[in-house]
Amino acid sequence: MKIPKSIKRYCKHCRKHTDQKVTQLKTGTKRGSLKRGSIQRAKKRGLGRGYGNKGRWGSKPTKPKRTGAKTSKKTYLRYTCKVCNKSSMTTFGIRTKKLEII
Ligand SMILES: [Zn+2]
Repeated sequence: MKIPKSIKRYCKHCRKHTDQKVTQLKTGTKRGSLKRGSIQRAKKRGLGRGYGNKGRWGSKPTKPKRTGAKTSKKTYLRYTCKVCNKSSMTTFGIRTKKLEII
């Protein structure tokens, strides 16, 4: 998928259409809800104790995950307004194999 470097798009801060720069956001940096801090919180509340990892709160999943089902990944774009320099993100990721910003 090819996307131009700048797109004329509605800016909610300026309340009109302005030239906006397109940049791709990196995915995979999102923090999960059951990461380390949350595991400790669950233990404090008396959860997640016992034998095994209870299917959760562990490093290894109990079930093998189904992998390789999809060949494309979701890409997220950030639009930066050239007038007010504020940015907005796409609410839904676009499924593409490869993204080119030209
Ligand atoms: Zn703006």
